[in-house]
Amino acid sequence: MKKVVFLMTAIGLTFIFMSCASTPESQSAQASKTAEVKKQTAADDYGKAGNTFLKYCRGEITAIANISADIKSSPKERTSVEVLHLYNILEIKQSDLWNKSGIYQMNHPEEGMRKAAMMCESAVTEQATGLSLDYELFSALAAISADDKSIADEDRYFLNDVLGDFKRNGVDKDEKTRDEIKRISAELTDLEQKYYGNIGGDRREIKITDINRLKGLPADFIAGHKPDKDGVITLTTDYPDYFPVMENAEDDTLRMEMYKNLHNVGYPQNSEIFSKLLIDRKKKAELLGYKNWAEYTQAKLMIGNPENAYNFIKKVADMSKVYANKDLEMILAKKKEMKGPDVEVEAWDRFFYPRIIQMEKYNFNPEDARKYFEISKVMNGLFMVAEKIFGVTFEKVKRDDVWDESVQSYNVLTNGKVTGMIDFDLYPRENKYKHFAMFTNELGVKGVRLPRAAIVGNFPQPVDGKAYVSHDDVQTLFHEFGHLMHSIFAGDQKYVRFSGTNCQNDFVEVPSQYMEEYVWEAPILQLWATNDEGTPIPADLVENMKKASEFAKGVHVNRQMHLSMLSLGIYLQDPVNFDHHAYEKKIEKEYSPWKSYDDTHLIENFGHLIGYSSNYYTYMWSLVIVKDIAGFIKSNGGLMNPAIMGKYRSTILNVGGAKTGNQMVEDFLGRDFTIEEFDKWMKQ
Ligand SMILES: [Zn+2]
Repeated sequence: MKKVVFLMTAIGLTFIFMSCASTPESQSAQASKTAEVKKQTAADDYGKAGNTFLKYCRGEITAIANISADIKSSPKERTSVEVLHLYNILEIKQSDLWNKSGIYQMNHPEEGMRKAAMMCESAVTEQATGLSLDYELFSALAAISADDKSIADEDRYFLNDVLGDFKRNGVDKDEKTRDEIKRISAELTDLEQKYYGNIGGDRREIKITDINRLKGLPADFIAGHKPDKDGVITLTTDYPDYFPVMENAEDDTLRMEMYKNLHNVGYPQNSEIFSKLLIDRKKKAELLGYKNWAEYTQAKLMIGNPENAYNFIKKVADMSKVYANKDLEMILAKKKEMKGPDVEVEAWDRFFYPRIIQMEKYNFNPEDARKYFEISKVMNGLFMVAEKIFGVTFEKVKRDDVWDESVQSYNVLTNGKVTGMIDFDLYPRENKYKHFAMFTNELGVKGVRLPRAAIVGNFPQPVDGKAYVSHDDVQTLFHEFGHLMHSIFAGDQKYVRFSGTNCQNDFVEVPSQYMEEYVWEAPILQLWATNDEGTPIPADLVENMKKASEFAKGVHVNRQMHLSMLSLGIYLQDPVNFDHHAYEKKIEKEYSPWKSYDDTHLIENFGHLIGYSSNYYTYMWSLVIVKDIAGFIKSNGGLMNPAIMGKYRSTILNVGGAKTGNQMVEDFLGRDFTIEEFDKWMKQ
């Protein structure tokens, strides 16, 4: 849970930044990029690569404006097919600018290029907002009749989706309302950037003078935290300090200080900002004809509406409560054994005692697994599994246009023919993205071009050509690889807005979480995971690893549902004169498996409340679907069976956004999904 895993993609008119992580700790700063961008002037020099990129970006922005003008100028002289084709080209150009800006600003080694990419993202976003409220552009598209015989069903599906987005953005409102929407949207962007900026700019420090307080921490951590000349050791709330302390420090008070400091980041600066944001989001939703923000955002998702979201969250919260309580009992027993009878379980015990229980009770030490996961073997394993289940092959190639010379490139071949391009940027580098993510580079378009996407990660740098990674890292890599294959296999779409991972947002974590199933089965791991002597990973080690991971699953799921309920509930309240802190504590007491403390402020630093807004439930929702799909596959030939996997590929992975999530599930399972398999998994 330490790692933040992101899927980055651009959908329609919004740059979507999806986090695959599950803890609020993972939401540090997505610092205010646009503000910085606006300070740049045309006279600045961005280096050779940056200048070239900006030139390309400006050219494409002009081209987008021209296409829009072209569509508006003489709609009657064009066939419906031609108009839709033009609009598709416009969206291809937009998505390229978003996607490439995303990759480069997060990963490019040259500062000039990173800045140029930020400028480009900001410019294309601003243009897109304008286009989304452009009534003439909307009218030109809306002039195509729904029963126009010259267009096919897939064209009609596309047209409806496009027009639906225009309406959701308020294009058909009167001019005064549209101006008000524009004003609120701009204000919201500003509030969002300030909120993230306040989190990023608020790194807290805990100063200690007694080195014994670091007892339990690894020697290299202690060596890296030497006292200064006054004998003071400084710890920060940044991850490289926070997690080692939370997992290892025997000093309960030290963990409490870390916990409370982290859960007060952004407080009080963000309190007023968040209050304003709630008011603006509600206002915007109402102007667009919805009761509240949750209803507005969920209208396009599988979940449909807040009532369904509430019922789902409540159901899983109740279901997980029983298991969470069992986990908490074990944690309490361990704590009593170590600290004496008069103790209670505190929120800052969340990582410390479970780790000890995993080592003692389940006899699992993560270090034992590491020697079977040498990185080149992991990569071979990944390819081997994919070749068997998806019937593709991978061919190592050299590409000249990668952003760093260390990036490794491959082609994906289906029946010997290249059908996609993938890049791996796996090792840390200065100024590079710090976690793991799948980045779309170019969305595939049928008959036009192949899809291209990348995994960016931070594995340990190889020593003498070898690097060993944890099982956690292997799982993360498989997760991102699920996004990657989704991106490639769904890259043969006529319309770019349905290409790759551009499906409904509460379905997008299905292909990724599904791939994680492949790292928990001994016979599958044994195909590739061997130690230096060539011995495959022992089945009992895999079994212990699985049991250890399953412990504390109850508290984990239960906590996710607490956060989901907060995320939904807060967007259903009347935000005027609303005490969001009191609401946070009410929900915490009702739903969190952990104790509630009045002096912590989650709302001020839980970035998902901005990004995911009301929809934090989507991870667990996707996981429920994954468990049903995986159960079905296991009882119909198994995870490695090419026939059932072929069906999975054709009904789900190849489809992208051309169908709804529910339709894909039904096409594969032959029925709606149920929560039964998830329930079974919880009970394990
Ligand atoms: Zn993901």
